Amino acid sequence: MSEAFYNYLLELLGENQVLKNEPMSKHTTFKTGGNASVFVKIETKEQLVKLLRYLQIVERDYFILGNGSNLLVSDKGYDGVIIQIGSLMSDAYVKGDRIYAKAGASLAMVARLAAGAGLTGMEFASGIPGTIGGAVRMNAGAYDSDMSQVVESVSVIDLQGEEMTLDNATMEFGYRRSAIVKTNHIVTEVVLKLTPGDEKEILAKMDDLNQRRRDKQPLEFPSAGSTFKRPEGHFAGKLIMDAGLKGYQIGGAAVSEKHCGFIINKGNATSTDVYRLIQYVKERVKEAYNVSLEPEVILLGEFPKD
Ligand SMILES: Cc1cc2nc3c(=O)[nH]c(=O)nc-3n(C[C@H](O)[C@H](O)[C@H](O)COP(=O)(O)OP(=O)(O)OC[C@H]3O[C@@H](n4cnc5c(N)ncnc54)[C@H](O)[C@@H]3O)c2cc1C
Repeated sequence: MSEAFYNYLLELLGENQVLKNEPMSKHTTFKTGGNASVFVKIETKEQLVKLLRYLQIVERDYFILGNGSNLLVSDKGYDGVIIQIGSLMSDAYVKGDRIYAKAGASLAMVARLAAGAGLTGMEFASGIPGTIGGAVRMNAGAYDSDMSQVVESVSVIDLQGEEMTLDNATMEFGYRRSAIVKTNHIVTEVVLKLTPGDEKEILAKMDDLNQRRRDKQPLEFPSAGSTFKRPEGHFAGKLIMDAGLKGYQIGGAAVSEKHCGFIINKGNATSTDVYRLIQYVKERVKEAYNVSLEPEVILLGEFPKD
């Protein structure tokens, strides 16, 4: 990174918000991945707009990071700017039956906030370890609900740093996708419209769903949740189990024995191990059932070509 570039970042964001050669294993729930050349923490929308405009001028690649819970970063790292919206741009408040949440607010925190205000609708998200921004982009969902059912509007910034607000219909939510996957708009704030309910019942539902996760999912190992999207008419985990891959391991990455839809890091996995296992599972399931599995996990950086 040039001196001028570094100095610009320091001036815009301050010393504590700019890191060089930051290991991405510290910022992904897989706990794998090489270094990001530059890693910045954004605190305000204004900082983000200025930074995006600057990066456009100097033609530097960047990647928006939430909580890194759906992300596999190459062991070679990322030679661009990682812009973390997760940790500092993260407050949320309730007004009537709406919640106004900054993109970096955690889903768990927003779900608890909703429960405390006697608002129902966010229970499904209380065990998903992502941010509101990442969840809106992916239309994260579980237990027959997803973000599309609670989002009223989304404030975004486009690649030129222009701000706009998109309503639910304009977001074109679908299964694990939204309009901004194509446009790469960045979410800064989300308005959720919820329904009045009973706080005790909401908390009980959240407890029940989280217990179901603990019972069925390998939460004791690092992972990115379900590795593959649900193929139409099938369940990825069942296809993988039926293909005989339960527990199958490459390096430190394994198909979870508890839930075959999860690839887990058994402690010393590299991103390459995870990547090779994803490829292997895809091949075996294609051979056995002629179903093409598509990763839900997002890949960042260079991975082996073979
Ligand atoms: C144990 C476990 C369980 C999980 N269970 C579920 C589940 O039940 N349902 C489910 O859907 N997912 C689940 N996930 C996956 C993951 O938590 C979700 O996809 C989550 O929404 C990702 O949010 P994030 O903030 O971590 O995003 P990241 O992983 O940081 O990023 C994911 C994508 O979103 C983009 N992004 C992040 N923030 C923004 C922003 N502000 N604006 C625009 N783009 C942004 C990134 O650039 C990237 O493309 C699980 C993961 C784990 C580890």
